[in-house]
Amino acid sequence: MNSNYLNPRDIDFYLYEFLDTEALLGRPRYSDHSREIFDATLNGAQNIAEKYYANHYSKGDDNEPTFDGSNVTMIPETQVAWDVAAEFGLMAAHHDASEGGLQLPEIICKAASAYIQAANCASSGYYIVTASAGNLVRNFGSKIQKEQFLHPMMDGRFAGTMALSEPAQGSALADIKTSATRQSDGSYRIRGQKIYITNGDHNLTENIIHMVLAKIEGAPPGVRGISLFIVPKVLVNEDGSLGERNDVALAGLLHKMGNRTATSTVLHFGENEGAVGYLVGEP
Ligand SMILES: Cc1cc2nc3c(=O)[nH]c(=O)nc-3n(C[C@H](O)[C@H](O)[C@H](O)COP(=O)(O)OP(=O)(O)OC[C@H]3O[C@@H](n4cnc5c(N)ncnc54)[C@H](O)[C@@H]3O)c2cc1C
Repeated sequence: MNSNYLNPRDIDFYLYEFLDTEALLGRPRYSDHSREIFDATLNGAQNIAEKYYANHYSKGDDNEPTFDGSNVTMIPETQVAWDVAAEFGLMAAHHDASEGGLQLPEIICKAASAYIQAANCASSGYYIVTASAGNLVRNFGSKIQKEQFLHPMMDGRFAGTMALSEPAQGSALADIKTSATRQSDGSYRIRGQKIYITNGDHNLTENIIHMVLAKIEGAPPGVRGISLFIVPKVLVNEDGSLGERNDVALAGLLHKMGNRTATSTVLHFGENEGAVGYLVGEP
């Protein structure tokens, strides 16, 4: 199949001639796979890119998401694209089979994703950022955090964000002001503002899981004092059902030329009772 966005011959050259990706099939981790499975994954992604992502890149740029004070609304094609990508399983394709993934090599996942990103860099951001947030929970989260947050993200029920930047700092993360106060039940209350948060609010999923950088009260200065927290938009009960709305508010949408379908947001955490957050890994 030809592509208007990426040349499949270039991808094949990089994967199979320059990098010898097929050699991975000799490793125990990938022994159940084959070149045919790799190619089917790439073809599937190329098909999705052409049909469900390229179709609304311009439309999404002309009709950016809107916020009425309660809800974010966007063009319906973005929802269809999210659903198709989640159904295809690309977000968890590199996860172990025992975790519900396809156990595909990262390089095949990245090459497959490249077709979708090339077709629509804005809309593809929803699953790419969710996959990145999922990687953090997968690598550093507890068993319960994986069940409550990672699995619904990988199934497409929840989306994810990376909430690092703040109004007063960007590159200098050591200076972040967002605070985390430990509670007697082991959770934290998060308070602070984050800015430029890609996909920080939208209506594509039941919930949004923010991966927030904050400083626990009394933490050492500098980067050593930064910790990572899961802060869900909607609290998740122990049985996985959705609970109350968390104290996370969308303060406004920003405008990013050429990338408008992906919401760019200002988020306020804990303006009232404090946003409930869960420490990921060690402080
Ligand atoms: C498309 C897009 C999506 C984004 N999505 C997210 C997101 O999802 N989550 C999130 O948390 N953030 C996000 N950001 C924010 C991004 O991470 C910040 O813009 C970035 O951290 C830089 O911060 P700043 O814009 O405040 O620039 P500054 O930190 O003020 O930097 C301005 C300039 O000064 C330079 N500079 C800074 N510090 C130094 C230094 N010590 N020495 C030398 N030079 C220096 C920088 O290189 C840069 O050129 C996004 C940004 C963009 C453009």
